[in-house]
Amino acid sequence: MLLTPHTLVGIAVASVVKDPFVAFPISVGMHYLGDMVPHWDFFSYTEEGERVTGWRPLAVAGELTLAVATGTAFVLYALWLLNNPPLALRFLLCGIGGVLPDLMSGLTLYLKNINGILKINNQIQATLQFQSPLPWGIITQILVSFFSVLVILSSTGR
Ligand SMILES: [Zn+2]
Repeated sequence: MLLTPHTLVGIAVASVVKDPFVAFPISVGMHYLGDMVPHWDFFSYTEEGERVTGWRPLAVAGELTLAVATGTAFVLYALWLLNNPPLALRFLLCGIGGVLPDLMSGLTLYLKNINGILKINNQIQATLQFQSPLPWGIITQILVSFFSVLVILSSTGR
């Protein structure tokens, strides 16, 4: 799944679960659930070698930028509009938690020896990934994003 919907799901968890020590692990867990939603991303239907060459790393970097901008917008929303620093901190933590497994997998693309938690994370992700061709693989992610924003806005009272 793309990083922006993962970020929004993490922030939705943060808007519902008030304890950051509970919300953070749930946001990470929701990443794996998110990958079970049929989706298309820049690595769909590719071999490992294709993932680090050509346009794909650039597209991933561009989409990561969008995810960071989205997360930052919600942190600022909590800080300035809601005047709620603890919520802003949870948004930040869980926004990162929502993409953490993919950040770890992304790292392993550039590492020679992978073991421990990085290896386990890659194996779980490879097992759970449910790919879907365009346009369906994007439509599902728009729905997930839309639903997440609804949860965030309704549970933060705007
Ligand atoms: Zn993933």
